Amino acid sequence: MAQLLEGKPLAEKIKEEIKKQVVSLKVKPVLASIMVGENAGAASYVKSQAKAAENLGIEYRLQTLPQDTTENALIDFIRKLNVDQSVNGMIIQMPLPAAIDYKKISQFISPEKDIEGMHPQNIGKLLFGKAKLIPCTAAAAMELINSSGIDLYGKEVVVVGHSEIVGKPLALLLLDKFATVTVSHIGTSKAGKLEEHVRRAEVLVVAVGKAGLIKGDWIKEGAVVIDVGINRVAEKIVGDVEFEAAEKRAAFITPVPGGVGPLTVTMLMRNLVEAAKAQQQ
Ligand code: NDP
Repeated sequence: MAQLLEGKPLAEKIKEEIKKQVVSLKVKPVLASIMVGENAGAASYVKSQAKAAENLGIEYRLQTLPQDTTENALIDFIRKLNVDQSVNGMIIQMPLPAAIDYKKISQFISPEKDIEGMHPQNIGKLLFGKAKLIPCTAAAAMELINSSGIDLYGKEVVVVGHSEIVGKPLALLLLDKFATVTVSHIGTSKAGKLEEHVRRAEVLVVAVGKAGLIKGDWIKEGAVVIDVGINRVAEKIVGDVEFEAAEKRAAFITPVPGGVGPLTVTMLMRNLVEAAKAQQQ
């Protein structure tokens, strides 16, 4: 039976480190959170981010803009925050109104304040293994893999999902540790090859958003399984991996909920403190 890789205790440990760093800063760090319009999903993220920030001694400055904010108005707003010296980092809450293209506007955030790690300059640094601001979910998955104690050198790692926020940055982080990385995606599934890749995985990370996509009996005996997926099925939250069957074969597995989720917000706060440190130097 697999050992559970729980996010909360790991997050608590990392938060202790963050707290120490916050205390060593010259000025209390400030995270600006931009929300456009009202949305229940975004509001719940905002609440948990605000709570995490407060516990760590970080000021969480919520900036709510009207639903009819235009793309240009949002870009102007971001530009103001870029030059506001009291702000160390910013995050744009999703979802945005349909008229606003997240990929476009996120490029206007100054790379020094880009605590989601999505600016091309920060992605470029990731490619060179020099990133300080790493996309939060990919960073959370890495922390969980590391907490299993596995040495990634030469290991077969299969990542399912190639999104910009999880699969792609995670592949770069894993390559940095000399893992042999396979990134599989919808094309892999359509070619009928997902199962054969998953079966080889000594470390498997799944970030798709489809409940039950990964069958429990595909899991290699002794594998480390990180399930990033979040799916609501019959009022329950489940991941992308068939948990009950998978935990019988894996050595380590993340629960959903309670695995990657609790760490992601901690990674955001860690990025904020990294950004503040660099700016105050
Ligand atoms: P995206 O929708 O951006 O990406 C999903 C990826 O899965 C895409 O690369 C897609 O390929 C691929 N995919 C879709 N169907 C299949 C399939 N049948 N077989 C293999 N690959 C497939 O999602 P995100 O990366 O943003 O999120 C993924 C999951 O992780 C979601 O459930 C999300 O809720 C969760 N998540 C959890 C977080 C946490 O903190 N725990 C944070 C962020 C996300 P293509 O695009 O080519 O179709």
